[in-house]
Amino acid sequence: MHPRVKPALRRGWRDLNTVQFGMTPAHAMTLAPVDTATGTFLDLLNGTRGMELLREEAVRMGLPEDHADGLVERLAEAGLLDDATGGGPEGEALRERPRVLDRLRPDLASLSLTAPTPGDAVRRLTARRRLRVQVRGAGRVGAALAALLSAAGVGEVDVRDGGCVQPWDVAPGGLPPASVGERRSDAARRLVRDAAPERPPRRGSPCPFRDDAGFALVLLAPRDDLAVHSPDPQDAEPLLAAGIPHLYAGVVEGTGVVGPLVLPGETSCAGCLHRWRVERDPTWPRLLAQWRSRRTRAVAACDVALAAAVAGTAAGHALAFLDGLSAAGSPHSAGVRWEAALPALRWRTRDIAPHPHCPCGAAERPEAELSGAPGQSQDTMAEHGPSTESCHRANAAPRPGTWRAHV
Ligand SMILES: [Zn+2]
Repeated sequence: MHPRVKPALRRGWRDLNTVQFGMTPAHAMTLAPVDTATGTFLDLLNGTRGMELLREEAVRMGLPEDHADGLVERLAEAGLLDDATGGGPEGEALRERPRVLDRLRPDLASLSLTAPTPGDAVRRLTARRRLRVQVRGAGRVGAALAALLSAAGVGEVDVRDGGCVQPWDVAPGGLPPASVGERRSDAARRLVRDAAPERPPRRGSPCPFRDDAGFALVLLAPRDDLAVHSPDPQDAEPLLAAGIPHLYAGVVEGTGVVGPLVLPGETSCAGCLHRWRVERDPTWPRLLAQWRSRRTRAVAACDVALAAAVAGTAAGHALAFLDGLSAAGSPHSAGVRWEAALPALRWRTRDIAPHPHCPCGAAERPEAELSGAPGQSQDTMAEHGPSTESCHRANAAPRPGTWRAHV
C-alpha cells in the first residue's frame, strides 16, 4: 500500500493541534491531537511512498517507531485514507492508461469520498467498466442520462428509442443539432460513444451482466410525459420477472421526476404506485383512460434546464446504486419519487410504500431488510477506540471526551 490522505478533502488547522479534513458537513472530519512532527508527517502520505519508507521517514523525524503504522491505521479507520496503488489488477491497468485516468480523475476523487476503505474508489470506478445498463428513451432526459453514464465510465450503455431526432430533442449534453432527422437509436449510440472516456470493453470479456440474463440497471426515461407521470406497470413486468432493477426519470408538464428505483421484490414498483393512486382517487382510472386515448398533441413541456437537472439527478442515483453505495444511505430513490416543479425547483420526495396487492411482492418483505435501511449508515466508519489521537466526523454527534466541529 502507498497511503495517500484523500486529496479530495481540503486540509486546515483548526488550532495548534487539531487538523480538519474537508469543508462540508457531509465528509468533514477532525483529527486531534496532532503535534507538529505528525502534521509534517501527514504531508508524506501523498501516495508516493510505501509503508517501509514511511516508517524510515518517521524514525528520521524523531517519531516513535510504530507511529507511521498507528497513524495510517487511524486515518484508514476514519475513512480519510486512500491507496495510490490499490484497486488490484484493474486499478493497475487504469493507471497505465493516463489519458483515460485523467478524464475520470474528478469522478475518482468523488468516489474516494464515499468509499471508506483504501483502494475502494478505484475498484468501484473500474467495476463500472464491466457494467451493462440500458436507457429506454432518447429525448432530452434519456439522451443526456445515457451520455452521463457513459462519461462516468459505465462500460456499456444501450439506448433504445424509435423514430427520428426532432429539433426539440436537441439539448446540451444530449443529442446535438446535427443529429436532427437521424434515427434516434443511431444518434444516441454515437452520443454514448463520444461521451465515453475510452472504447468499451471487447466483446467476450468477463462480465457478470453480459449475458441474456439482462442488465445491471434499466433506466426508463420516456419522451411521453404521460408515461413519466403514470408509468404503465405492464411495461415493467418483464423487468420484474427477470429481477432487473430499474429507475424512472423524466419531465411531465414542467415537473421533473426521478424515481422510484425499483429493486424487484424489495421496493415498490410502478404497479404499487398505480394501486395507491386508484385507492386514493377513485376517478384516477377514468382520467388515465382519457389521457391515454388522446396521445396526439403538441410538443410536451420539457424545459431544457429541468431536463438536464433530471438527467443529472437520475444519473447520480443510478451510479450510487451501481457502485453499491446503498449501504451508505444512498441512493435515496429506492421506493421514493423525487419531484421538482418549475419555477421553484424545490426537490421534494414522495414515498411509495409497497402495495399489499401488487404482484411484485415487495410488501411481503420485512421493512428492515430494505436497502438503505437505518442502521447501515456510513457513520459507523468513524468509530474510534481509546487513544490519545481521536478522529471523528465533523458533523457527528458529540461523545464524551470528543468534540464536534461546526462546519
Ligand atoms: Zn409493486
